[in-house]
Amino acid sequence: MGERPSSIETIGSRVLALAQNDLIWHSLSQCFQNDDHDGVAGINLVEYTADTEAELTENVNRLIGRLDTLAGLPGECTGYSIAWGNQEVEKVWAMRKKAVGLLGNTQGEARPVAFVEDTAVPPENLADFIMDFRAVLDREGLSYGMFGHVDAGVLHVRPALDMKDPEQIKTVRRITDEVVGLVQQYGGLLWGEHGKGVRSEFSPAFFGDLYPELQEIKRAFDPYNQLNPGKIATTNDQQPLLAIDAVPTRGDHDRTIPVASWHYQSDAMYCNGNGACFNYDPNDAMCPSWKGTRERKHSPKGRASLIREWVRVLGEKGTNTQDLAQAEHRRLPFLHWFPRAWKTLRQRQGQYDFSHEVYDSMAGCLACKSCTGQCPVKVDVPEFRARFLHLYYGRYLRPPKDYFVGSLEFIIPLMSRQPFRWVYNSLMSASPVKWLLEHGAGMVDSPHIHHHRLAPRLDKLGVQWASPSRLLELTQAERRRSVVIAAGAGGDSGQALWRHPAL
Ligand code: SF4
Repeated sequence: MGERPSSIETIGSRVLALAQNDLIWHSLSQCFQNDDHDGVAGINLVEYTADTEAELTENVNRLIGRLDTLAGLPGECTGYSIAWGNQEVEKVWAMRKKAVGLLGNTQGEARPVAFVEDTAVPPENLADFIMDFRAVLDREGLSYGMFGHVDAGVLHVRPALDMKDPEQIKTVRRITDEVVGLVQQYGGLLWGEHGKGVRSEFSPAFFGDLYPELQEIKRAFDPYNQLNPGKIATTNDQQPLLAIDAVPTRGDHDRTIPVASWHYQSDAMYCNGNGACFNYDPNDAMCPSWKGTRERKHSPKGRASLIREWVRVLGEKGTNTQDLAQAEHRRLPFLHWFPRAWKTLRQRQGQYDFSHEVYDSMAGCLACKSCTGQCPVKVDVPEFRARFLHLYYGRYLRPPKDYFVGSLEFIIPLMSRQPFRWVYNSLMSASPVKWLLEHGAGMVDSPHIHHHRLAPRLDKLGVQWASPSRLLELTQAERRRSVVIAAGAGGDSGQALWRHPAL
């Protein structure tokens, strides 16, 4: 280990602001508690590692000394914080890692688009390159997020565009051409980290004299141009390379979705496919239905994709989900039962409807809302699932199980009292009832009502009932050691105020 930092990263103001509005910022409050972040144009993260704590301290102090001399000078460092130790450092890197996804959480129709997102120039040229890059984007009047690896000269930039707007799509070509000129001017590359893909049209410009050699290799191993045709190199100059504005984009597809459906199901529309929901960590709350099945259609991304396709197919048939939902509100439920029963019968006879595939995916969702909190774009599956089911059950009959489960909230408080409890528990133990529930309503292992009731037990433990007036009476010290428990089972609906006797 030497005196030099192990890594230096930069995070621009836009990404920083998004991070501050995300749950992840709470884990960083210790690191940034002394800083006023209003108007901060960005932060640089400088990491040191060393073999001994003394060496580490010396390196960090050297940087601090340098920052102290720059503090207050125009255009220089406005402040700094130190994250010390593995645990604190990991939290900062977790925020940095989430930065790409956070960019996708921009509001409005213009969303960050990755097309000049991994330029790389020699690190000593990076500052000037960034200034010129920003000038290009500012001339186009675009907002953009920026972060990158300063030590490697790699910059991640995602300008915000509405790819449904044909005029804004033209911006992709203009910006790319200018950025290609800039990276060549600063001795860098257009693709510092990611694949060349549809940017392969620039291969000859960057490989220069080596490009014919690449074509030679391509001819030797892929003479019929079958492997990734149009990418990196083609077998001869007559075969075109892929170009950024000559391939279909997701915007082309999104443009075919009716605007009314787009807004009605907007919780699904903005999924940018970042894949944060494909999470394998058993200690992470993100999507239990994906973890349990490992099937993409049971992930938030899969569900959002299915909804997008569903509204697109409806659009092809000349309708949109907003109009359908309004029509649903105007319907008389009883009269509408017969056409729904008929369609349900046809469904059981095997009549295909794409909405059944969407339904299968939605039926596996537990509505736990982990996606809403943890997805960087805040894709809200329970919200668009509810809107879908509202329309789906306007077309097909609801399963009896839904009515049964829906009524439990009202039935259970009554059933918890004697003699109803005895009747209820006896029925739930009877084999014919179990069989009926399983085969008629699809319910198994229905729980019995326990003979314990919460209210008498809480009274016995000296727990007080919470009420707005009682909570207002609490002193600050009492509030710190009090917990309000929402109790709603067994007929003891209400809220209990609990205080640990030892405190
Ligand atoms: S609400 Fe549904 S889609 Fe979202 S995380 Fe939970 S199970 Fe997955």
